[in-house]
Amino acid sequence: MGIQLFKPTFRVDECLNEIRECLELGWTGLGFKTVEMEEKWKQYTGAGNAHFLNSATVGLHLAFKILKQECAWQDGDEVISTPITFVSTNHAVMYENLKVKFADVDQYLCLDPEDVEKKITDKTRAVLFVGLGGNTGQYYKIVDLCKKYNLKLILDAAHMSGSRVNGEIPGKDADVVVYSFQAVKNLPTADSGMICFKEKAYDEICRKLAWLGINKDTFARSRDKGAYKWKYDVEYIGYKYHGNSVIASMGLVQLKYLDMDNSYRRQLSAWYNESFKDYSDKIKPVPVAENCESSRHLYIIEVENRDELLLALNECEIYPGVHYRDNTEYDMYAYAKGTCPNAHRLSERVLSLPLHLQMTKDDVDFVAGNVIKYVR
Ligand SMILES: *Cc1c(COP(=O)(O)O)cnc(C)c1O
Repeated sequence: MGIQLFKPTFRVDECLNEIRECLELGWTGLGFKTVEMEEKWKQYTGAGNAHFLNSATVGLHLAFKILKQECAWQDGDEVISTPITFVSTNHAVMYENLKVKFADVDQYLCLDPEDVEKKITDKTRAVLFVGLGGNTGQYYKIVDLCKKYNLKLILDAAHMSGSRVNGEIPGKDADVVVYSFQAVKNLPTADSGMICFKEKAYDEICRKLAWLGINKDTFARSRDKGAYKWKYDVEYIGYKYHGNSVIASMGLVQLKYLDMDNSYRRQLSAWYNESFKDYSDKIKPVPVAENCESSRHLYIIEVENRDELLLALNECEIYPGVHYRDNTEYDMYAYAKGTCPNAHRLSERVLSLPLHLQMTKDDVDFVAGNVIKYVR
């Protein structure tokens, strides 16, 4: 098998027990466990609103759909975003006929506030920040910029489940935060996500849009007394984006272990850092922002001959990954090619080393040893 980049860990019996409750009750859809997951997520993060969805991608889409609709943005209005991310992030902007304006990244591989400020025009409506690998980078400077220029702030927290800054879960300053519980994220289910709007009114619209525009969900209706269970209105051309109780069951179990799991991820990362500390001229671990306790979804190093190193590690049955290819290299975003030199340079040099809960210190030593052997 070798050492894989990601390998999710599930508490199988606990997950099955939660799922069994759904099956016995005969309720696997929206409501029941999805409501419980939303309540637990609000408690855990301190968010005022949370809606459980079938992915983070759809959550990001809803974020732009709702902000555009409610703030009267026009087609072609601009959202400043990062080229170092999974394509979902930027596609979500494009779904709504908005334009992605790429800004460069800093040493944390997150949006660089200085370049963001330079990219602001009179068409800019929002900034989309990605906490890469769980790192919060210079997020709070972006918060300040958004206040100063009256821009909306969307936080793509796909990697950030459980990340903290000064002991708190960040996101209160954002207009909307979107988490991913996809199969290999640090809070894995199978596919699901959570969207947390700051504004209650937007959360309410979001619940309708995620369920075909229907203004009363089936679970609420099932508890209605009287003969009007069937009578709902359809207020929007909505989507089928909501999550279900079987997947929420897995999320509920994973959430119980999230802090413990993340602290082991930080331990693995600390072992990597320790191994590389005498080779800082050749192997540069991407730093974590000061005061950030990262979820450590990723452990990323910067090296000179990344592609060769990747192949050499594959020879030893070590399977790292790359997060991410500069998005302006893709056809879809080629209009922005050359606008983010730091992102471009780093995207050729970064490598994500295996990091998952089934790894031991010996595994880290084995991976780190081979990285060191090759770069020397
Ligand atoms: C995985 C990921 C997403 C999309 O999450 P899904 O739940 O798979 O839709 C969005 N943004 C980033 C940065 C991601 O890594």
